[in-house]
Amino acid sequence: MSIEGDARRLKLVIILSSSYGLLSFLFSFIGLASGQAAVHLHEYSLGGILTEISGHFLFGAVAAIPLLQIDLLLMAGSMAVLIDSDHILGALNLNAGSRPAHSILYAFFSAAFLFYLTNRLRLADRMKLKLTSLAPIALVSHLSYDVFVAFQNGGSRGGSFPLLTPLNFGLIPLSYLSWIVLEAVSIIASISVEVASRRFSLAGSKAKA
Ligand SMILES: [Zn+2]
Repeated sequence: MSIEGDARRLKLVIILSSSYGLLSFLFSFIGLASGQAAVHLHEYSLGGILTEISGHFLFGAVAAIPLLQIDLLLMAGSMAVLIDSDHILGALNLNAGSRPAHSILYAFFSAAFLFYLTNRLRLADRMKLKLTSLAPIALVSHLSYDVFVAFQNGGSRGGSFPLLTPLNFGLIPLSYLSWIVLEAVSIIASISVEVASRRFSLAGSKAKA
């Protein structure tokens, strides 16, 4: 399937982003096994929630700029926000603590999920690569903003994350300056994906010639 027209591309972004959001929400239930207290939404003010959402969206979107497609930029931003969907369980007073989707294993799992969906949608190889890669890119940029905020709020201490959930719910600390490294890594990953996807299209057109 070739994606033509802005409306069609927007529809694709909405379908894939909502599927990713649902996956992230379902994955959050794993946190019920952690025995740790959830982050409760009511602990934030409305302004705090809006800042959190805009910050995650911005960091995710910036990370995807090298992919040179506005729809991918919007999708990366939305996915970076949706990683925090465990807050919904917190708002329901369920102790799905430890922010399960903040995990390297979740990045692999969600990438496999996006690859499966893009394969089912019969997208071109270069789009499959770009869309699948958004899973780790969104997570790394998400962690970057979380660490950035932790630094703003807490001074010298960065955030701690359950990077190995569901194998281990232990929180692994990241130093405060790692937010720069994490955002840089996500941007470099996007550049690499863009370069690789061009080689894909080049190889495809040579094969057809
Ligand atoms: Zn987070």
